[in-house]
Amino acid sequence: MQAAAFEYVKPKALQEALSLLEEAGEDARLIAGGQTLLATLNMRLSEPSVLIDISDVAELKGISIVGDSLRIGALVTHTEIEDSELVAKHAPLLKAAAPHIAHRAIRNLGTWGGSLAYDYPAAEWPACRLALRATMIIHGPTGERRISEKDFLFSRASQTSW
Ligand SMILES: Cc1cc2nc3c(=O)[nH]c(=O)nc-3n(C[C@H](O)[C@H](O)[C@H](O)COP(=O)(O)OP(=O)(O)OC[C@H]3O[C@@H](n4cnc5c(N)ncnc54)[C@H](O)[C@@H]3O)c2cc1C
Repeated sequence: MQAAAFEYVKPKALQEALSLLEEAGEDARLIAGGQTLLATLNMRLSEPSVLIDISDVAELKGISIVGDSLRIGALVTHTEIEDSELVAKHAPLLKAAAPHIAHRAIRNLGTWGGSLAYDYPAAEWPACRLALRATMIIHGPTGERRISEKDFLFSRASQTSW
């Protein structure tokens, strides 16, 4: 099958992405690595009118230490986590879990944020985030909010649409 027609935009900054998302409303979908979304588009389980490609948004990239926390950006791929020295040092559980996610080709493109958007309980990352007592930082048009993995996983917040 083939995806239905959609408008395609590629913001360079987080604020631009948030504005586009607010403007387009429910009809928009974000795309990062495309490993889940492209299949749903092609099967027409999802028919957004606008696809917002966030893969160039610099603020969502990178792994760093902020204060006494390890920060993983939403656009960080599973492979980057697997290969990161910072992760190996500060959160070795993530390094150990990463190779169990799909195979390398999927891990090269699939992102931490794309996985988090579904937070499928049987996936590798939710259990790791629970064990590590991770906090998610979620950006929206009115600012940012923080939510623990426990609250995220057991609330409706993680139930994204295709
Ligand atoms: C063959 C195959 C095998 C897999 N096996 C495993 C496995 O063993 N274990 C496992 O855990 N996972 C597995 N996965 C899932 C994989 O981890 C996800 O497909 C991937 O992480 C999704 O990330 P993405 O960047 O490709 O997301 P996309 O496909 O680009 O987006 C997925 C969804 O997330 C939303 N989204 C993306 N980024 C953001 C963001 N920053 N903020 C808000 N919403 C966002 C999109 O709008 C979309 O709804 C597998 C996938 C495939 C295709």
